[in-house]
Amino acid sequence: MATAFVTHPDCLKHEMGAYHPERPERLSAIEDQLIASGIGQYLVRHDAPLASDEQLARVHPIEYVRAIRDAAPGEGTVHLDPDTAMNPHSLRAALRAAGAAVLATDLVMRGEADSAFCSVRPPGHHACRARPMGFCIFNNVAVAARHARHAHGVERTAIIDFDVHHGNGTEDIFQGDPHVLMASTFQHPFYPYSGTDNPAPNMVNVPLAAGAGGKELRSAVATSWLPALDEFRPELVVFSAGFDAHTEDDMAMLRFTDADYAWVTEQVKAVADHHARGRMVSMLEGGYALGALGRSAVQHIKVLGGLN
Ligand SMILES: [Zn+2]
Repeated sequence: MATAFVTHPDCLKHEMGAYHPERPERLSAIEDQLIASGIGQYLVRHDAPLASDEQLARVHPIEYVRAIRDAAPGEGTVHLDPDTAMNPHSLRAALRAAGAAVLATDLVMRGEADSAFCSVRPPGHHACRARPMGFCIFNNVAVAARHARHAHGVERTAIIDFDVHHGNGTEDIFQGDPHVLMASTFQHPFYPYSGTDNPAPNMVNVPLAAGAGGKELRSAVATSWLPALDEFRPELVVFSAGFDAHTEDDMAMLRFTDADYAWVTEQVKAVADHHARGRMVSMLEGGYALGALGRSAVQHIKVLGGLN
């Protein structure tokens, strides 16, 4: 068995303005590094399907899903929030991104793939139950976790979020949900300024100060994530894989390196191997320095697939 790589050309057509950092070239940067690293040939590629209303409505109120469908413009651009916009292709891109989460979960749960990486955009972890936010429209990791539960009977899904921004949308959706444990690191104080006030017991948030790097990441994972994950005994691990905490990424001020992304993935893979038969689904979130994004994503995928 191999690692699945789920993507779709529609995800390249979603654009939010000429200078917007969340741009199609991000996916091309990952493709370039798959070729440069030589690992692309070991991945099994899949086209992301469109998520259905039923799949989305496990996470978002159906009224929200319909409002997004209605907001999609026939031409030009509409803004959903100051950072998040839709062009005529954005709806299909967002449905593909969420659909990738569904397909990846199906592949891994059916045993048709050991693990899966979804190279899709828009990202999802800021999307709240009923609110688009921070480049995100539908919460892709949440769609994966709820699909795992409803379609495959998974009782415990761990969501691992190492994006530089706190996954406030994921927290909004799963706070207090006994079927999900969320473990995250993020720069704080920083956008979206959440993650530290009275988190529910199923939220293992580790805020990191500006300037923190691999040493602080290792401490957070060893001290906070791993004990909580071992106690939770996940049947499936879903990554919110953002690479914007990289030292070369000037979106924020953390200093992770390519090797740190390999390391953190190795730690979580050990948990997945022990408790979850190695089942891992990874959804791309942030990462805006194209070179660092491509290299770090490849480091992450190599570990997912045992190709390191
Ligand atoms: Zn981010």
